[in-house]
Amino acid sequence: MFRIGFGYDAHRLVKGRALVIGGVQIPYELGLEGHSDADVLIHSLMDAILGALGKGDIGMHFPDTDPAYKGIDSTLLLKRVMEMADREGYAINNADNTIVAQRPKLSPYMQDMKNRLSRALGVPADRINIKATTTEGMGFCGRDEGIAAYSVVSLASIHK
Ligand code: MG
Repeated sequence: MFRIGFGYDAHRLVKGRALVIGGVQIPYELGLEGHSDADVLIHSLMDAILGALGKGDIGMHFPDTDPAYKGIDSTLLLKRVMEMADREGYAINNADNTIVAQRPKLSPYMQDMKNRLSRALGVPADRINIKATTTEGMGFCGRDEGIAAYSVVSLASIHK
């Protein structure tokens, strides 16, 4: 059995918040606003996994009205989603992700993001791909108003 899921997320860039993407804190004058640490990449990845499992979205499982998730490290939520996948008998086959940001330059942090995601997902880093693109100044990402991320995940059944 093989399943595919898609995820998308976007968060607003504001002053006075840390910029955390893919579990990595990135030095920048702005950070992402949100109830949790607002890790846009991990959120899109979690939605892709939940999508592949046919289990709704992160808003259903980790509502932003719940104080338990205020400021939470999204890596912990990603691990929870992987535990759900494991219970359903699935493991990550591969995951491909695209971060859409005009600034800052993300390439220096990509390998660290890959390593962190692969640890949280329990798969080798070569199963995880992360890309970054600008929008040539167009739209909310291009105007530095926010950062978006897209993820596609394939899950393969594990026979225990
Ligand atoms: Mg989000």
